[in-house]
Amino acid sequence: MSTELNAASNFIRNIIDEDNRSGKWGQRVETRFPPEPNGYLHIGHAKAICVNFGMARDYGGVCHLRFDDTNPEKEETEYVDSIIDMVKWLGFSYQTPQKEHLYFASDYFEQLYQAAEILIQRGSAYVDSQSADDMRANRGTLVEPGKDSPFRNRTVEENLDLFRRMRAGEFADGTHVLRAKIDMASPNINLRDPAIYRIRHAHHHRTGDAWCIYPMYTYAHPLEDAIENITHSLCTLEFEDQRPFYDWVLGELADAGMFSRPTPQQIEFARLQLTYAITSKRKLRQLVDEKYVDGWDDPRMPTLVGLRRRGFTPESLQLFCDRIGVAKSASWIDMSILEQALRDDLDPKAPRATAVLDPLKLIIDNYPQGQQEDCHAPVHPHFPERGMRTFPISRELWIEREDFQAEPVKGFFRLFPGNKVRLRYGYVVECTGFDTDADGNVTAVHCNYFEDSRSGTPGADTYKVKGNIHWVSASHALAAEVRIYDRLFLDPNPDAGEKNFLDALNPNAKRVTQAYVEPGMLNFAPDDRVQFERHGYFVADRHDSAPGKPVFNRIVSLKDSWAVKPAKGGGK
Ligand code: ATP
Ligand code: MG
Repeated sequence: MSTELNAASNFIRNIIDEDNRSGKWGQRVETRFPPEPNGYLHIGHAKAICVNFGMARDYGGVCHLRFDDTNPEKEETEYVDSIIDMVKWLGFSYQTPQKEHLYFASDYFEQLYQAAEILIQRGSAYVDSQSADDMRANRGTLVEPGKDSPFRNRTVEENLDLFRRMRAGEFADGTHVLRAKIDMASPNINLRDPAIYRIRHAHHHRTGDAWCIYPMYTYAHPLEDAIENITHSLCTLEFEDQRPFYDWVLGELADAGMFSRPTPQQIEFARLQLTYAITSKRKLRQLVDEKYVDGWDDPRMPTLVGLRRRGFTPESLQLFCDRIGVAKSASWIDMSILEQALRDDLDPKAPRATAVLDPLKLIIDNYPQGQQEDCHAPVHPHFPERGMRTFPISRELWIEREDFQAEPVKGFFRLFPGNKVRLRYGYVVECTGFDTDADGNVTAVHCNYFEDSRSGTPGADTYKVKGNIHWVSASHALAAEVRIYDRLFLDPNPDAGEKNFLDALNPNAKRVTQAYVEPGMLNFAPDDRVQFERHGYFVADRHDSAPGKPVFNRIVSLKDSWAVKPAKGGGK
C-alpha cells in the first residue's frame, strides 16, 4: 500500500485533526463512499475511494461502502457486483472485526419515510400538487425569489393523509410531491422548498414493487449518513450548495430526537479532472454502446475495470491519488502524472524480458547450423537477487525491423551493411547484406558473428560498438499477440465546450502486432506484468492470454512520448 504522501496535510486532515483535538467525535472517523449503482466506476471514483477509504484507514477509522440506490430506474445488480470488486481490488476494506460496513440506501426506505412523516408533523414538509411546470415557474431565479405554492399551507393532517396515500399508490406519477418547507425567497435555490419525495411507479432492483414513492437524493443522502453514524461525509464540490439543506434536514430531525448531535459534517473536495480522458458515465456508456471500444473493460477505457485490464496496479492508482492530493478548488490533472505514477510503481516490480514487436529475420551466416548456446540476462537490473533468465541464441534470430536500415540515416548506429552492433547479452555481429522481395522490401538481414565477442567473456571488451539491439532466437521464440495501447483521445480536453468528444478519439489507441517473445515466457499467467526492454511495460491480458499462447497489453511506454509533441501529432 502506498504511503508516499499519506502524511501530507490537507484541509480535510486539518478538520479531522481539529475534531480529534476537541473530542467532537470521541476520536471516531467514519467516512463513506456512496456510488450510485448505475454504471461502472472510473478513475474519478478512484480518487473518491482513495480519499474516503484512505482517510478512514489513516485515522484508524472505517469507511462504509454504501450503494446509493434510491433511484429505481437505472440501477442494476451487475454494477453493484463490479463496484464491490473494484473497491477490493483497489486495496480497501469496509470490514472491521465487528462488522461488514456494506450498505444499501434502499434498506433505509422505511426510515427515510418515517423521517418524512416527522418533518410533516413538525410543519416542515408539505405535499405540493402543482404541476411540474408551475413548480418550475414558481421556483424563481438566481436574482428573483420564488413564489409560495398555493398548497404550501396545507394542514399537518391533510399533508399526512396525502403523503400516506401517495405511499399507498393512490396517485399517478407526477401528481404530488412532498417538499421541505424552508424558504421560497432563499438566495440559495436549493433551500426553496426542495422536493424530498416523488411518486414513481417503478420496479426497484432490491425492493421490487414495495414502494411507489422514492426519496430524492439530496434528502436521502444526509439521512443515510446520519443513520450510519458517519462523522465526515466527504463529497465532491458540486454538493457545496446542497450543504445548507444537508444541515437543515439533519438539524430538524435531531431536534425531533431522531438523530443525536453532532450530526455528520459534509466536506467538499474538488473532483478529478484528467486530461485525455472523460469521466462522464453517459459518454463512457456511449463509447461502449456504439462500439468505439470493446466493452467497459477495454484497456483504453478510464473505467477501473478498463485500467485493471490495461495493467494498472492498485498501488499505482493509490500513488497517483496521493500525489494529486485533495484540494478545495477544481483543477486539471495531466494524464502524464497518472502514467508516471504507473511507471514508478512498475519499475521496481516488473521483471525484464525481450520482445520483438515488429519482427525481421537476422541470419548469422557463419554460425553453425543446428547449434545453440544459452545467453543470460538479469531478471531485474537493480535487483541481482532476483536471479538471471536464460534464453538461447542460434543461427536465425528475430530483430526489430526498425533496427535495420539499408541506407542508414545520419546518426543511425544500429544494423546497416558494414556496421557492427552487439546483440544484447550475446555476440557482436557485422552486417554483410540483406534480402529483398520483388517490391524491394527487406525480407532478411545477413551478418557474421565474432566468436570471441560473447557478452560476459573477456573478449567482449575488445569490441567497441555504438549499437546494441535486442533479439530472440527464431526457432525458440514464443509467438505472442501484443496490443499496443495508447491514450484514447488526442485532445487533452475532448469534452470541453462545444466539442464532440468522439471527434477526438485516437485512431491509433490500439494497434495489434504479432510479436515474438523470449521462450521463458511460456507460462506467463494472466495479469502478470513485465517490462519488455525498450518497449515499455506489458501485462498478460486477463481474458485472452493463455499459457503457451500469450496475449500482452502495453500498459505504458517507458518514457512519456506525449510531452514533447503538440497534442495533435499524437503519441507513439
Ligand atoms: P452521476 O452523475 O451518475 O451521479 P457520479 O460520477 O457522481 O455520476 P456516483 O456513483 O454518484 O457517480 O459517484 C460516487 C461518488 O464518487 C460521489 O461521491 C462522487 O462525488 C464521486 N465522484 C464521481 N466522479 C468523481 C471525480 N471525477 N472525482 C472525484 N470524485 C468523483
Ligand atoms: Mg453522483
